[in-house]
Amino acid sequence: MVTLPNTYTALDARVSAFLAQEQRLLIGGRWLPAHSGETFTTYDPSSGLPLAAVPRAAAADVELAVQAARAAFDSGPWRSGLSPLERARLLWRLADLLEQHAEALAQLEALDNGKPLATARSVDVPLSVDHLRYFSGWANKIEGATIPVNEKNMFAYTVREPIGVCGLIVPWNYPLLMAIWKIAPALAAGNCVILKPAEQTPLSALYLARLFEEAGFPPGVCNVLTGYGEEAGAALVDHHGVDKIGFTGSTEVARAIVKASVSNLKRVSLELGGKSPNIVFADADLEQAIHGATWAIFGNNGQSCTAGARLYIERRVFEDVVEGIAEKTRAITLGAGLDPSPHDLGPVISAEQLARVTGYIEAGLRGGARLVTGGERLGGVLAGGYFLQPTLFIDAHDDLSIVREEIFGPVVCALPFDDPAEVLRRANSSEYGLAAGIWTHDLRKAQRFAAALQAGTVWINTWGNTEAAVPFGGYKQSGHGREMGYDAIQLYTEVKSVWTYYG
Ligand code: ADP
Repeated sequence: MVTLPNTYTALDARVSAFLAQEQRLLIGGRWLPAHSGETFTTYDPSSGLPLAAVPRAAAADVELAVQAARAAFDSGPWRSGLSPLERARLLWRLADLLEQHAEALAQLEALDNGKPLATARSVDVPLSVDHLRYFSGWANKIEGATIPVNEKNMFAYTVREPIGVCGLIVPWNYPLLMAIWKIAPALAAGNCVILKPAEQTPLSALYLARLFEEAGFPPGVCNVLTGYGEEAGAALVDHHGVDKIGFTGSTEVARAIVKASVSNLKRVSLELGGKSPNIVFADADLEQAIHGATWAIFGNNGQSCTAGARLYIERRVFEDVVEGIAEKTRAITLGAGLDPSPHDLGPVISAEQLARVTGYIEAGLRGGARLVTGGERLGGVLAGGYFLQPTLFIDAHDDLSIVREEIFGPVVCALPFDDPAEVLRRANSSEYGLAAGIWTHDLRKAQRFAAALQAGTVWINTWGNTEAAVPFGGYKQSGHGREMGYDAIQLYTEVKSVWTYYG
């Protein structure tokens, strides 16, 4: 039985019941312990307390899951028996179930990830529902083309077919939402999936597994394996029966995945890290820019691949903007995920991540950067969790690791610039290219920058917007392929060209 601090919001009855049960993997419609019988513990980062033991899947479990998914894909009802409309209905039903279980899912997310319950309620769960509904709509609209060809008496057309068995490996920053970003288009297109959540946050995926069953997906179509990346994740990537890997996570792990995928040249799509530039021009609405830049980095505690971590500010407004952001940053409140009093942010995800982020802060200070605010771990009643003050640096040289490398935590560097050409060059001089922002009243300048910035998403006088219909992904080492919108359908389908001679 889990014992949580008595200051927490009372658990939803479904969450208490869920946490009291033995957790199982979902493989081929059956609920199984790991083949080895082993489990691992997932913790509440707000308190450091254990939440649940979950199965530690490894190669043997991956083998079973791949067999089940292969059988469902190759000979089960999913591919040939169920009409596109029935697939659409199942996805819609899953969205309805997410809505019915919204509070339980939000609480599990707040417990396992540490984000405020209010955020999980207003962002993670409703966006997941929207995403499922959007892709439900695609299931019966995946069309091919008829193509005029030069050869006489010849008819050519294309069809888009599902790829097959998809291994979906997701991170811990938006555990449910990142899973749904992949599951929804993969299933809409008729694939079978094996979901591997991050070892830090397995709970919402295990809860989702029950909803797959309740929605009525045929056995083997949706499988869920909890386990470590180097074990369950690596075995999935290595497996010849897996046709595609959809991955969201670090660029470093992506390199290992690409290497392992060469054995059967499986398709790989990657949504990776970033060090996104956010550019504030002096002619911007500064109040708006200050608010936007603060949340561009500190939203989700900087644990977003799009975090606006390099903040370029035109020199003549530099001090005012930095002061404005510092003021907002000092006002940010932190608390446990299930602390019922209103607060903006939770802890960082783990002790390791806290050590990593504080290591960057120390390296920044050693390199001559100066702290305007933040930099300290919180003590007192929050001492058991991994709470770090949102941190704002100035005087950081462009070569410092805090300016170049992805920290994935609440740390931003404010960097002055003098002219547009200079800031464009500095913004683009990164191995990453996920997102970028520009704050200005000058629409021509904004459009010139939108065209020249090497980033998969450019936000103008806004930051962080994503919707199921709008493609999302990275340039350079931030990714490969685009999720969301029709691009995601392309990511989970193969194109077949058919030629017919009728002469
Ligand atoms: P983060 O840095 O955000 O923790 P990671 O890239 O380490 O991101 O992890 C993202 C996902 O990738 C997690 O589900 C993790 O278990 C998985 N993973 C980690 N290492 C590997 C690996 N070698 N092969 C496959 N998956 C992995």
